Amino acid sequence: MVLDFEQRLAGLMDGERIKKDEPMKKHVTFRVGGNADYFVTVKNADEIAAVINLCKEEKVPYFIMGNGSNLLVGDKGIRGVVIQIAKDMNEIEVDGETITAMAGALLSKIAGAALNAGLTGLEFASGIPGTLGGAVVMNAGAYGGEMKDVLDMVRVLTPEGEILELGKDALKLGYRTSVVAEKNYIVLDARIVLKKDDKEKIREYMEDLKGRRTSKQPLEYPSAGSTFKRPEGYFAGKLIDDAGLRGFALGGAQVSEKHCGFVINKDNATALEIIKLIEEVQKRVKENSGVALETEVKKVGEF
Ligand SMILES: Cc1cc2nc3c(=O)[nH]c(=O)nc-3n(C[C@H](O)[C@H](O)[C@H](O)COP(=O)(O)OP(=O)(O)OC[C@H]3O[C@@H](n4cnc5c(N)ncnc54)[C@H](O)[C@@H]3O)c2cc1C
Repeated sequence: MVLDFEQRLAGLMDGERIKKDEPMKKHVTFRVGGNADYFVTVKNADEIAAVINLCKEEKVPYFIMGNGSNLLVGDKGIRGVVIQIAKDMNEIEVDGETITAMAGALLSKIAGAALNAGLTGLEFASGIPGTLGGAVVMNAGAYGGEMKDVLDMVRVLTPEGEILELGKDALKLGYRTSVVAEKNYIVLDARIVLKKDDKEKIREYMEDLKGRRTSKQPLEYPSAGSTFKRPEGYFAGKLIDDAGLRGFALGGAQVSEKHCGFVINKDNATALEIIKLIEEVQKRVKENSGVALETEVKKVGEF
């Protein structure tokens, strides 16, 4: 059965894009996590659909990922196939005030293309270390901007194999949510609409945001960005600080001393240590302020 599955998978794409027992810590910004049974990097919608069909037929689970910047993978790894939509699916095209990019293009690259074309509106995303696909799913945002402001149309693959074009309203973009996440759609590509502006002004704003990130965020340690969602009316980092948890550590995992909203992998943490630390933070913040913190980071695999 396993051999049959492997042979069929090998028939779908060239061998160097299929990896067996692949350490997930190589593919996520937290740098933790066990092995994925199979890890494939896909080139287009047909390949994604073919791998998913095969998984369904052989009853093998699959998981879609982008750049792994919002994931916490369990120490025992991920069963089945991890399908990465990233570097092999990353074309970006600029046409007037419109940018069309594949789901695997990095936001930093798309923001760079916008800058080169003198287009404003995507500066907020230049320092978010994810792919366009991951950013659509989460309606990623920063410094007052969010994907919702710039997305015009997104093409998705449904779990049933249909391709849909979703306009702004159909995407139902909210705070770190979208219809894509709700319905397990797979983002293939998206159209972004921006506005012409002065290149120097755009560059300066990007530099300003970069400076703010470097001075406030613990970018020197592996993490998955903000660990918790912003509870309405509060800031997660302030609640954590007020609960006396700045620098609080468990094994190799730590609440960043620089920014309490980030749990960092300070010193070879395990996923279990990170989870335990997150749960302890949630418990103590609840006791201290009555606010329930929800995680923004997504847990995947076996812990
Ligand atoms: C240092 C740092 C700073 C960060 N700053 C910010 C910030 O300012 N704002 C912010 O919003 N986020 C921030 N993040 C979090 C993260 O970068 C974003 O959530 C990003 O959008 C995730 O994209 P990704 O490609 O890495 O997705 P992944 O982490 O690979 O996946 C995240 C989720 O999206 C799904 N997914 C990924 N690609 C697709 C696809 N093509 N189709 C369907 N589903 C898909 C996955 O299944 C998973 O559920 C930060 C992270 C780090 C490490």
